[in-house]
Amino acid sequence: MVAPHGPRAGYRSALLCAAAAVVLTACQPLVDGAPSHTLLTVAAVLTAAGSADLRQRARRQRTEHELEHLAFHDGLTGLANRALFTDRLEQALRRIARSDRDVSVVYIDLDGFKNVNDSLGHAMGDSLIREVAAILTGAVRTEDTLARLGGDEFAILVEATHGSNEAVRIAERVLAALRQPLDLGTARVNVSASVGIATGDITSTGSSLLRDADNAMYWAKGAGRGRYVVFNPQMRSAAAERLQLEQDLWAALPEGQFRLVYQPVVDLVSERVVGFEALLRWDHPTLGVVLPERFLPVAEDIGLIAEIGAWVLHEAAAAAAGWQRQHPEVALSMAVNVSPSQLGSPDLIRHVREALVDSGLPPASLVLELTESVLVRDPVLAAERLRELRALGVKLALDDFGTGYSSLSHLRQFAVDILKIDRSFVSTIDDKEAMPAILRGLINLGRTLDLEIVAEGIEEELQRTHLRDGGAGLAQGYLFAAPLEQADAGLLLLGQADSPAGEDAAAPLA
Ligand SMILES: [Mg+2]
Repeated sequence: MVAPHGPRAGYRSALLCAAAAVVLTACQPLVDGAPSHTLLTVAAVLTAAGSADLRQRARRQRTEHELEHLAFHDGLTGLANRALFTDRLEQALRRIARSDRDVSVVYIDLDGFKNVNDSLGHAMGDSLIREVAAILTGAVRTEDTLARLGGDEFAILVEATHGSNEAVRIAERVLAALRQPLDLGTARVNVSASVGIATGDITSTGSSLLRDADNAMYWAKGAGRGRYVVFNPQMRSAAAERLQLEQDLWAALPEGQFRLVYQPVVDLVSERVVGFEALLRWDHPTLGVVLPERFLPVAEDIGLIAEIGAWVLHEAAAAAAGWQRQHPEVALSMAVNVSPSQLGSPDLIRHVREALVDSGLPPASLVLELTESVLVRDPVLAAERLRELRALGVKLALDDFGTGYSSLSHLRQFAVDILKIDRSFVSTIDDKEAMPAILRGLINLGRTLDLEIVAEGIEEELQRTHLRDGGAGLAQGYLFAAPLEQADAGLLLLGQADSPAGEDAAAPLA
C-alpha cells in the first residue's frame, strides 16, 4: 500500500491535531474543571500522531523537491536542463507577445570536446564541462537562464532585450572567457566554443528559436570555430542541405565514393617529380565532385574523420609504395593532410603504423601535413602527438605556413621537417616585385632552421624562376601539374623515368 501523500496527508494530520484539541476542550467543563487522565492520554496520542504525520510530510516534501530539482537540472553542473530551458523559453515567448521586447537564445557548443574525452578520459571531460559551466555562469546576467542541453552543448536564454545586442555581448564575454586555458587540476586544457545566436519575434516558438540558434552555431563552426554567428533565415535551407550531406557521408566510405588525386611535388632545380600530395575527393552520387573543404568539417562533427583519415593514409601509402617499387631510382615521398581532430585522436598513431606496415612504405617516405591551428588549439597534446609520430620515423610538414598564426615559436617548439609556404605569398611575385621581402624572409627562415621548403600554388614561369633562385627547394602548383588521377600520376613517373634528369620532364603535364 502506498503511503498517503500530498494534500490528503495534510488534511489527515490537521484533522488529528484538531481532534486532539476538540477532545481537550470538550472535556474541560465535564470533570471538575480538569480533564481526566484517560482523556489527556487520548488527546496526547492524537497530537503525537498529528506531529509525526507533519514530520513525515516535511520529509516527503523534501524528497519531492529533490526529485523535481533532478528532473529540471543537470546532474553534472547543477545548471538548468533542456526541459527547464524549453519551459522558460516558452514562457518568455508568451510574455513578449504582450510587449515590445525580444528574446534571444545563445547556443554554445565546445570545439573539439570529443578530443578531450578521447585523450584525457571521461573524468577529465566531466571536469572540463563543470569548469566551462562555471565560466558561463560568470558571463551571463542574473536574469538569464543558463542551461546545459547535453554533452558539450549549453544555451543561454536572454530575456527582455531589444534585438540581439545583449545576446551578442554575452557571446563575446563567453568567447573571451574561454580563451584562457582551463585548469583541470592535473592538466591545463585549451578549449574554444562555437556560438549561434537567434532572436525571436512573435512568430517564434521555443523549438524554432532553439533550432535557429543551433543552426547559427553550425555556421560558426563552419566559419572556423571559436566565434559567434547571428542567425539569418537563409541559414534554414542551408541546414537542410547540411543534414542531407551528413546522411550521405555515412554511406560514402562503405560505398567507395571517396578517391584520392595526387598533386606532384617538383624539385625546382632538377624539375623532376620527387613526391606527391594526396588530396581527397568525394564523388557524390547527385552533387558530383565534392571538395574536402566542404565535407571534412561535417565529417569531423559527426565523428567520421578518423575513419576517413585512416582510409586516406592506407590508400596514399599503398599508391606510394607501388610507385616506389616501379621506380626505385626516385626517393618518392607521399604527403597526407592530417586534420586537427585527427591529430587529437589517439587512433592516429595506430592508423599511421598500420598504413606503413600494410603498404610496406618506408616511414621516411610518408609526410604528414599539419596546419598551425592544430598546434595552437592544444599545444601540449600536439607536442606529444608529434613526438609519437616522429618516433615512427615519418616526416612532418607545417602546411599553409604564413596564413594562420605564423608563429616563429611554433617552428622551434614543434620540430617539423618541412615548411610549406602558402600560395598567397607565392602569388605576390609579379613583374614589379620579383621577390617580396616577406617571402624571401620565410624562405630564409626555413633554411636557417634546416627545413625543406615547398612553395605552394606556383602558376607562372616567373614564380618558378624567382623561387628557385631564392632558394625554395621544392614546389607544387598548376604550372607543373594539377592534382592527377592515380593512373595519370603513374604515367607521369613513367615519362620521367624515360627522360634523363635535366630534360623537361614535368612540364608536359602543365
Ligand atoms: Mg596540404
